[in-house]
Amino acid sequence: MEDTRISRRRLLQGAMTGLVAVPAAALIAREAAAAPALIDESDPAAKALAYLHDAKKVDAAANATYKNGQVCDNCIQYTGTAGAGQGSCNMFPGKLVKAKGWCKVWVLKPGAKL
Ligand code: SF4
Repeated sequence: MEDTRISRRRLLQGAMTGLVAVPAAALIAREAAAAPALIDESDPAAKALAYLHDAKKVDAAANATYKNGQVCDNCIQYTGTAGAGQGSCNMFPGKLVKAKGWCKVWVLKPGAKL
């Protein structure tokens, strides 16, 4: 006859595994929820600064300061990782901007060239 009793050691091992797994899952879920999202061009803050995801679509006639080559990637306010498609901008806390985006407060990052 097979012994179906669960040993105390096995019971404790199962409980410890569960105790570790639940907080880990909660941390992963919280991190995913806290990940910043790409700002919407229709966001009032984005509209106020004439932000666009694609600098090539900037209306140069309406934005006299815009020059070809100005993009978020070479702006002093951009804190995204070099080579990444999008990153953070000091002007839009908690949101991401496109590396090839632009807005009307663009300023050349020190050491960068157009
Ligand atoms: S401040 Fe600079 S990095 Fe931020 S959206 Fe405007 S151009 Fe892009």
